[in-house]
Amino acid sequence: MIRKLISRVLGRKVRDPQRAPAIIAAAEHGLQREQISRACRRTVEALQEHGYQAYIVGGAVRDLLAGLTPKDFDVATSATPEQVRHCFRRSRIIGRRFQIVHVNMGAETIEVTTFRGHHDEGSGNRAQTDEQGRVLRDNVFGSQSEDAARRDFTINALYYDPTSETIVDYHHGVADLRQKTLRMIGDPKTRYREDPVRMLRAVRLAAKLGLAIDPEARRPIREMGGLIENVPPSRLLDEMLKLLTSGHAVRCVTQLREEGLHHGLLPLLDVILDQALGERFVLLALESTDRRVREGKPISPGFLFATLLWHEVLAKWEPLKARGEPAIPALFVAMDEVLEAQAEKLAITRRIAGDIKDIWALQPRFEQRTGKRPYGVLQQPRFRAGYDFLLLRVESGEVEAAVGEWWTGFLHASDEHRAAMLLPPAPGEAKRRRRRRRPATGSDQDRGLAE
Ligand code: ATP
Ligand code: MG
Repeated sequence: MIRKLISRVLGRKVRDPQRAPAIIAAAEHGLQREQISRACRRTVEALQEHGYQAYIVGGAVRDLLAGLTPKDFDVATSATPEQVRHCFRRSRIIGRRFQIVHVNMGAETIEVTTFRGHHDEGSGNRAQTDEQGRVLRDNVFGSQSEDAARRDFTINALYYDPTSETIVDYHHGVADLRQKTLRMIGDPKTRYREDPVRMLRAVRLAAKLGLAIDPEARRPIREMGGLIENVPPSRLLDEMLKLLTSGHAVRCVTQLREEGLHHGLLPLLDVILDQALGERFVLLALESTDRRVREGKPISPGFLFATLLWHEVLAKWEPLKARGEPAIPALFVAMDEVLEAQAEKLAITRRIAGDIKDIWALQPRFEQRTGKRPYGVLQQPRFRAGYDFLLLRVESGEVEAAVGEWWTGFLHASDEHRAAMLLPPAPGEAKRRRRRRRPATGSDQDRGLAE
């Protein structure tokens, strides 16, 4: 009765997920079997031949319908992880938050997930949560309709069967995608409480696909954004990396800010975006990242985070220098402080942190254009990243254009020309160096950096 009333008011059918889903034929959805990778099709077919239900699901179906090339293909099946393993010789169970199976098919790895069930209040199937309601573990298997209901957005709950070329759609995902709406499955507040990362996913997917977040799903973000603080830092790092390397980083960050998600919870974006020079620098960095992603060039997380955090380093470094601290040790103090503060929220790995520091530590060395020093800088393993970073600083107005031009010239010049480019030592510099009686090889800076 109510369902009928709502459907009359909204002018569309309200689907009960427990009832039969819409089965959308190829002629209507337009997706073709050949658009799915061969390895993925073979995985699905093998599972079906063994008598299990199997579909391509999630981001791949969504992206293909939206005319984008999927990053990867995920398979959902009625087979348990053990049963999947028995279907494929080259497969193994991966036990992360959920148990999934990696099937190796040629050069590709296909992720196969068993349909997840829901956890009923009061039953033994209750998911484990923290005090805020965040789901910690839920590894209950279920039916396809239950699996669909557990997914986050309607456009992510589409199941494509390459054999019949139909799409199984429990939640109007195909219609929502056509109407360019990102709609949450179920009550948005409950779903954000279960997993606050869904707020970041909403922003990322809306930006990537050019969708409007449905007001119901958008409204609670402002008040619930703080819950992201409870998300484990490693998961936050994964999601931030996805967001920043999506090829739509500028749009994502702009939208994060509109939703109030850049404040407090992501120290990375906090402060930086609120300073004119910092904002310009970050936006330039993100634009260049987006360009690289679109051109299919690799992105270094170290470079990305180095740009996002640079103005925090400056904010700590400048006062230390102003107090008379020597520049290089002061830079290292500032770098460590910024990275430590960041580590509490975002688990930047040791390797990424090493890359970040290398890039930052090169920056003062670009100012030294006398004697042998520039040759030493050219030899640094992270020279290229450091130089690209310098050019961004120039573009944002932080560093004089002449410095960037000099390095571009020096990089491309012949040996002879390079020697002619070196600036004369500053008055008193040669004398100072001699007095310190440092060995002829290795400048002050080299030592400073190696320590
Ligand atoms: P992309 O791969 O482009 O980042 P995606 O939607 O495929 O986007 P994945 O993290 O690969 O993202 O997740 C695959 C699918 O799993 C999603 O499409 C969605 O159905 C489901 N999913 C992922 N994260 C969540 C979540 N936090 N809550 C509920 N469902 C999720
Ligand atoms: Mg995916």
